[in-house]
Amino acid sequence: MQTRKGWSGPLKKMEEKILKEGKILPGGVLKVGNFLNQQIDTPFMKEIGEEIAKMYKDDEVTKILTIEASGIPIAVSAGFAMNLPVVYAKKNKSSNISGDVYSVMVHSFTHGNNNNVMVGKEYISPDDKILIVDDFLAHGSALYGLIDIVEQAGAKVAGCVAAVEKGFQLGGDKLRKEGYRIDSLAIIEEMTDSEIRFRK
Ligand code: 5GP
Repeated sequence: MQTRKGWSGPLKKMEEKILKEGKILPGGVLKVGNFLNQQIDTPFMKEIGEEIAKMYKDDEVTKILTIEASGIPIAVSAGFAMNLPVVYAKKNKSSNISGDVYSVMVHSFTHGNNNNVMVGKEYISPDDKILIVDDFLAHGSALYGLIDIVEQAGAKVAGCVAAVEKGFQLGGDKLRKEGYRIDSLAIIEEMTDSEIRFRK
């Protein structure tokens, strides 16, 4: 288990924290409840936000979009660093939705169900350039759903940031091939029951 040589700052720290504090669960799930999900390491979260701000400083982003619940702390941290508003898509099991929302069906990798994901139309407009942020990128359903919502609104996608990409589940590479800019703070290339290997 090694992190990238010469790697520094929050990207290196993300790999180190995954190795030290992450727990590998069955079915290719990584639990990071100690610092990213259920419990938030706030100084680290601040660094993550600042790193995202650096990555997108020249991209004229107008708004950050994420999905509830675990994307919110990362998006808000980036929002503070970029001085931008954050919008989060809500998940609702009901198929009855009112006319003034953009909505899309998103399959949840961790819960194994489908959620009708919604954003009020008043929160995204055609002149927005949106940075999409989430905690994990696995098969890509969450990001595809959020991209769909941005495109329904006629707005532009500046790019997508995932705190952790599980490269072996291929969503990230599929999105990159389709031309989307995908920046992940750590990319796990391989994850067995006992070992994690990062993409170089
Ligand atoms: P995707 O839609 O790309 O298949 O999966 C991403 C979504 O599922 C994220 O919003 C995240 O909440 C959840 N997720 C996927 N894989 C993991 C994982 O290994 N650990 C955790 N904690 N969440 C995951």
